[in-house]
Amino acid sequence: ATPTALLAATGRGAQLGILVRGPEALERLRRIDTVVLDKTGTLTTGRMSVTALTARTGGLDATEALRLAAVVEQGSEHPLARAIGADAAARLPDRPLPPVRDFAATPGYGVRGTADGYRVEVTRPGDLTGLPAPLPEAVHTAETAGHTAVLVTVDGTPEAVLAVGDTLRPDGYRAVDHLRRLGLRPVLATGDREATARAIAGHLAITEVHAGASPEDKAALVTTLKEQGARVAVVGDGVNDAAALALADLGIAMGSGTDAAIGAADVTLVREDLQAIPDAVRLARRTLGTIR
Ligand code: ADP
Ligand code: MG
Repeated sequence: ATPTALLAATGRGAQLGILVRGPEALERLRRIDTVVLDKTGTLTTGRMSVTALTARTGGLDATEALRLAAVVEQGSEHPLARAIGADAAARLPDRPLPPVRDFAATPGYGVRGTADGYRVEVTRPGDLTGLPAPLPEAVHTAETAGHTAVLVTVDGTPEAVLAVGDTLRPDGYRAVDHLRRLGLRPVLATGDREATARAIAGHLAITEVHAGASPEDKAALVTTLKEQGARVAVVGDGVNDAAALALADLGIAMGSGTDAAIGAADVTLVREDLQAIPDAVRLARRTLGTIR
């Protein structure tokens, strides 16, 4: 394509809410054949809310566990953290949260810190068999519904499970179907657990699912796919997606995403609409003369 055509395509992309970082990215966009999609904040809106609160029998009060979790989540910018903070504020309006101390976050896993003198962790649940009743059932119920279950551990004891529900972006099914019709292979990769991931993938008819993926696992998946000869685009929004976005043949960040994701990507979708992904591919193919 001529420089003028590329420039025109970049401009057209901007009109469509697709910001492409330079003509060379358009060229790579044209060639991709596999699209790895993150779940939270990408296929879902990332506007999460707490849907259920379950405390261990004989343990802390459920709202107290929620409050301790919210104190620690003040240090995180994850959509889960915002949901937990909002729920605590709604349920406990007259109890402002003290600042968190000793905060640490592990992207794709959870957060920990000191709240009211307690050591509090809010994380992805590990092996459910070790959890006290009725927490395993609470995890199971949440995940079957496609929600995320997070575990609140206080001074080493699992105290509560918070179910956090997210909403699929309304155009997800159509956009994924469109990708398939363009000959692209959709793959779901998420740090969330298998049951939740499968429930969400089922709604979108995505059969290839990589769940429980740490940021490193997501990056390794990209490397493996590339070694198998795939030309891989990654679509993501989080700090946990940055490495995979950077390693991909083409990184696509959600405009609502974190600075880390946008900084690592070649394309940013400022339009809050998954249909922008197939639109971007078609734009690149048209401009650069591939009819497909
Ligand atoms: P995704 O890949 O779907 O965007 P993440 O990799 O961000 O999800 O998170 C994976 C899992 O790690 C979440 O489902 C949750 O269990 C846990 N997690 C991540 N960040 C947090 C946090 N701030 N608080 C609690 N749990 C978290
Ligand atoms: Mg995400």
